[in-house]
Amino acid sequence: MSTPAPRPLFSLTHDELAALCVELGGRPFHAKVVRGEVLERGVLDYDAMTGLGKPLRRALAERAPILAGTEVARSTASDGTTKLLVDFGGFGETGGRSGAVETVHIPPRERGTTKGATLCVSSQVGCPVRCPFCASGKLGLARNLASHEIVEQYLRGRALGALSRSVVMGIGEPLLNFQAVSAALDVVHDELGLGARKVTVSTVGFPDRLRAIAPTKPRFQLAISLHTPFDEQRDELVPAMKGVPIDDVLAAADAWFEVTGREVTYEYVLLAGVTDTAEHARRLAERLRRRRCTVNLIPFNPVTDSEYARPSAEAVERMHRTLVERGVVATVRWSRGVESDAACGQLRVRAASASSPRSS
Ligand code: SF4
Repeated sequence: MSTPAPRPLFSLTHDELAALCVELGGRPFHAKVVRGEVLERGVLDYDAMTGLGKPLRRALAERAPILAGTEVARSTASDGTTKLLVDFGGFGETGGRSGAVETVHIPPRERGTTKGATLCVSSQVGCPVRCPFCASGKLGLARNLASHEIVEQYLRGRALGALSRSVVMGIGEPLLNFQAVSAALDVVHDELGLGARKVTVSTVGFPDRLRAIAPTKPRFQLAISLHTPFDEQRDELVPAMKGVPIDDVLAAADAWFEVTGREVTYEYVLLAGVTDTAEHARRLAERLRRRRCTVNLIPFNPVTDSEYARPSAEAVERMHRTLVERGVVATVRWSRGVESDAACGQLRVRAASASSPRSS
């Protein structure tokens, strides 16, 4: 009789893992031991789980590999920010299709601190939103990530250094793969130990989905990528939201705050001459000044061949000043690791173009 195909450890429910442990000669409680070793202690090799017998360790390594993906690229910037490109293709449930995503480990700015790093994880392979300034959007959506593939990004990230925070802000739109994201964050919260206030999910803000999710009291902070205060321009910059008025997005965010009691953060990418003008600053302040929220201003990080450019320091300062003077809490987030493919999705785009012939 042939051996069943391997299934990644975190694609198994607790009961399935317990049954597998028994089938392989162990006891049901070994399932809890295995999950504890991996999630609480960061052990990524069955051989290091000395609480299990050697035959069980060997059998589990064959039948339930801890890591399902393959690291296909890594780049580290001088500030220590490390980007991993992990390919999850090859397992049955994904149809064997290629599934490379980026995970970014960002150490704290202050040296000698006991604070851990921030981990930025992806939720989909590619992204259906297709923002024209984003490298990931250029490739469109390949597929959703399974929840175990999202959990695996945390395991790989933590292996680079302790984590204090996490943002689901890498490749993909989390609300369009919410079941898997939510299941993964439950594991991250309950077993990996990152609290709800330490995890932020960033979305373009589908109003209906936000209204449906809020009453479930999700265990994360919400960030909405607004990028412009003007409806027509948002239709262009965030194509998947075409026809959805910004007022509707803001109203859904207000409802989120009322239901969950948690303030919303607005992400705003500053594109030189496109979204960083004085008029943008004034209109954005008008829209947000009576709301309890924070605005994260993100100076654009240029992507190869992009038609967009990084804003000047003066434009960034003007936008920040205008918001603050009008009573809006705002911060500027210069992206880290600029010299090492730090723009969203850039590592994946580079790997894809290196492995496929040019079409023109
Ligand atoms: S910026 Fe975010 S939402 Fe837009 S295409 Fe890129 S990954 Fe998707």
